[in-house]
Amino acid sequence: MDIHEYQAKEILARFGVPVPRGGLAYSPEQAAYRARELGGNAWVVKAQVHAGGRGAAGGVKVCKTVDEVQAFAASLFGKQLVTKQTDANGKGVYRLWVEGASDIAKELYLGFVLDRKSERIMIVASAHGGMEIEDLAHDDPDSLRRMTIDPAVGLTEFQARELAFVLGLKGGQIAQMVTILKACYRAYRDLDAMMVEINPLVITGNGDLVALDAKMSFDTNALFRRPMIAELRDRSQEDPRESTAGDHGLSYVGLEGDIGCIINGAGLAMATMDMIHLAGGEPANFLDIGGGASPERVVRAFRTVLADGKVSVILVNIFAGINRCDWVAQGVVQAYKEVGLTIPVIVRLAGTNVEEGNQIIQDSGLPLITADTLADAAAKAVAARPRLAA
Ligand code: GDP
Ligand code: MN
Repeated sequence: MDIHEYQAKEILARFGVPVPRGGLAYSPEQAAYRARELGGNAWVVKAQVHAGGRGAAGGVKVCKTVDEVQAFAASLFGKQLVTKQTDANGKGVYRLWVEGASDIAKELYLGFVLDRKSERIMIVASAHGGMEIEDLAHDDPDSLRRMTIDPAVGLTEFQARELAFVLGLKGGQIAQMVTILKACYRAYRDLDAMMVEINPLVITGNGDLVALDAKMSFDTNALFRRPMIAELRDRSQEDPRESTAGDHGLSYVGLEGDIGCIINGAGLAMATMDMIHLAGGEPANFLDIGGGASPERVVRAFRTVLADGKVSVILVNIFAGINRCDWVAQGVVQAYKEVGLTIPVIVRLAGTNVEEGNQIIQDSGLPLITADTLADAAAKAVAARPRLAA
């Protein structure tokens, strides 16, 4: 689960990371009020959306007057901000963060991620911050410093100091960097984070380190024990198709194509999507209904897939191990009737109780198209798509 920049800054500040002073605004007037309240003569107005790359997309601006703050805020509210990290729809801007502008002498990059290979939290840092980590890894890979943290020991002082040295920090900055690294590590570990990123971590004109941007994301499987974090969820930033599916325990990812997929198991779902591509089609979604899918769950899956207006055919592909084909077949028949399906449905069942499952499909008398193999199912799905009017 992602959170907003201002929320990440608040959390990290609590652990000891220095951040600029700022305030949240829900309207242009409030943004102007925040600027006056903060004082000074320059402010940064920042769109709060769950995506990076806001600067380049016009979602961040340094303003010199309160009027400018208000005008820029007015231009942002309600807008769909499209950045390099969003899809073509962008993310809705409903909150702004206004902070006192910092004087930037140098931008560094600092990230904490989970390194699956070493099974440890890994620090990634670079003396060349400001640009996205993907670009940094592509354009300037030699600048990246990586360090893994032994979970039994935690981040040690000497490790943190070593990193500060290789980043070229001097004097008092080294102690500041040690504080920041330890604070981020503690926030990451104590709150079940998956990622902490400060980009840029800046050296100000006075030589101090300040987190100018902050990004945190959290392990959804641990949210049950982190109610304070769970509360930070902002559904306006989520794909409504995905969040509704998630509420019903379905793992769903919306895609661009028109072949709706209802599949059990993430691996089989990926394989099916590949097979659809191979057959010349485009999947409309990834959907894993999980093991032990009851007929009710299958109906829910149908509703989820159909909520996407682009779907012109549905492919059900079940390899039942834990699952039972007869249950799934019942669900398909029930869904067909309840939802009032009008588009073609291809069903491929294999595994536990496959004969019973196929019998249910046959006895239903519904115009369901059955398939034996994955390749057969994908080919039939592609062929069953209604021809688009010329
Ligand atoms: P992102 O583009 O979504 O990652 O948003 P950031 O918070 O990283 O801001 C983008 C860029 O805006 C930064 O890399 C800075 O160059 C600039 N910026 C942000 N805050 C300030 C500030 O206080 N002063 C100045 N001069 N520039 C800032
Ligand atoms: Mn940034």
